[in-house]
Amino acid sequence: MKVLVIEDTVTSAAVVCSWLINMGLNALHAHSGEAGLEMFKSERPDLVLLDIIMPGMDGFEVAHRIRQLEEDGAWTPIIFLTARADDNDLQRAIEVGGDDYLIKPVSEIVLQAKINAMRRMAQMRESLRVLTLKLETANRELQRLSAVDGLTGIANRRCFDESLLREWRRCSRSGLPLSLLVLDVDLFKSFNDCYGHQKGDECLRLVANTLEKSTQRPNDLVARYGGEEFTAILPETEPEGAVAVAEAMRASIEGLGIKHARSPVAPVVTISVGAASLIPPRGDEHGIPMLVKAADDALYRAKEAGRNRVKAARGVIRVAGAWAGFGSSPH
Ligand SMILES: [Mg+2]
Repeated sequence: MKVLVIEDTVTSAAVVCSWLINMGLNALHAHSGEAGLEMFKSERPDLVLLDIIMPGMDGFEVAHRIRQLEEDGAWTPIIFLTARADDNDLQRAIEVGGDDYLIKPVSEIVLQAKINAMRRMAQMRESLRVLTLKLETANRELQRLSAVDGLTGIANRRCFDESLLREWRRCSRSGLPLSLLVLDVDLFKSFNDCYGHQKGDECLRLVANTLEKSTQRPNDLVARYGGEEFTAILPETEPEGAVAVAEAMRASIEGLGIKHARSPVAPVVTISVGAASLIPPRGDEHGIPMLVKAADDALYRAKEAGRNRVKAARGVIRVAGAWAGFGSSPH
């Protein structure tokens, strides 16, 4: 344990330092407030014994600055040592960040007892700090896990719901379009029947990661909606842009070349995609399910039309009495 003694009177400092050494502690001495502060920065002691009356920077100021230097909940115990025995000084010493106050001349036994008490408090504080850090790490991990789909490692349904609400609000404030894609792996049940669930899981992981790589902007989000269904939120994206992203996704999945012998669509795994876009009306979140339904309906049409294709929602989406969409789309 390192103890920093900040004391301008050399004889009194020498006595205290010799006691500290007798206690088996590492004693450092600074003979002014300024020097003490510098030594505090370079040595980071475990405890500070601080004189109040010193030429230049006094003990109150030193204690105040030490507290400013500490970060992340660190707290170095400070015991004031002084010849002054004024109640107001004691009050001020505690106020500026001191932990205790000893009136000189101090006895070796009292000093030792105080140091032991401080050491115990410092240990408790430290274990609390370590525990808090562990708890924060665990909480962050828990938060991450609660947003991630266990099978594919991409965002899960819960994360999708939260992101869609957030992006809906953001786009409604900025007046920019919000696009949504709903994607389905074509004939996935027969893929599972043919190749088994393990291959099925592998297929979903590969599809998920490929879809995620197909988005470029930081606010785009690909999520697993459930089963073999995925979604992509594309904020600030016009209908044409959304269809382009959807088409790129469709092509990249087909391009993976995952064999699907039982698919009448193609010899490989493919996806169908439904797209919908609108400019969310300000202060109205009732349209969110309608946007999802519009993309879902478009997905249904993509499947009806033979799968492995992209369809966009036709016409405009009616949100709580306001027309919130775009003109009819060619898809
Ligand atoms: Mg002094």
